Amino acid sequence: MPELPEVETIRRGLSPLIIGEVIKDVFIEKDTLGLLAGSLSLDDFKNTFIGSQIEEISRHGKYLVFSLNNGFLWIVHLRMTGQIVWTAAEDPPLNYQRAYISFESGYDLRWADLRKFGTWQITTDILELQKKLGPEPLDAEFSVAYLRQLIKNRTTPIKSLLLDQHFVAGLGNIYVDEALYQARIRPDTPSGQLSTRAITKLRESCYSVLERAIEYGGASFSDYVDAYGDEGAAHMHVQVFRRDGKACYRCGTIIQKIRLAGRGTHFCPKCQRASRRHVS
Ligand SMILES: [Zn+2]
Repeated sequence: MPELPEVETIRRGLSPLIIGEVIKDVFIEKDTLGLLAGSLSLDDFKNTFIGSQIEEISRHGKYLVFSLNNGFLWIVHLRMTGQIVWTAAEDPPLNYQRAYISFESGYDLRWADLRKFGTWQITTDILELQKKLGPEPLDAEFSVAYLRQLIKNRTTPIKSLLLDQHFVAGLGNIYVDEALYQARIRPDTPSGQLSTRAITKLRESCYSVLERAIEYGGASFSDYVDAYGDEGAAHMHVQVFRRDGKACYRCGTIIQKIRLAGRGTHFCPKCQRASRRHVS
């Protein structure tokens, strides 16, 4: 599932291609109309879209937000297998292509989605989205003080908290496992047990893991591709995610996999200790 680095890579790739483009038409396959969130109909969507110009693309957590010059915002979530790719109108369809937007310039923005969990919505109020999301892990607001305050006395495993989009927006299974490994924190550690030093390290690790993954153009473990339809390389540089049964790069201990927060969770039982409060 695409996380912050993948969505950010798409945003950066699409921005120079799509800004200023005028929407000519919208096509969604009949069996994919569930793509439109809430009570939005295809006619509503077309009426809002056709003739408008794309002014900006921003990212909020794992959401892409396209600002139109008529005041509307188009909010896209890729969920499990969504892909959004810029192509020439004459290019052949993508695998599992479900929808596309055509532009006056002769280009298309194609939407493919094997599992069909992705969503499109339209709003005029970005607060609707922002109120569902915690701070961005790359922003100053996601500070040691913020973390300390929010995890105080919490018994929730730190991994579950980092996956909660209300707590921090944009992290998912891959980068939470990677950040906890880098910070040497066991994923099932009760959050309230983390020392200030461990929290500081965790905050730094979230930052560096995400920055590095953006540099590699995101991780293509499954369906993720960038705005050009190309895979990223971050999956070739993970330290712990899906490395269960293999030797830890730091200490040689075999990486373990457990189930936590309903997700496959990978960690080194030697480098990542159960509690940091007494050892840091
Ligand atoms: Zn290790």
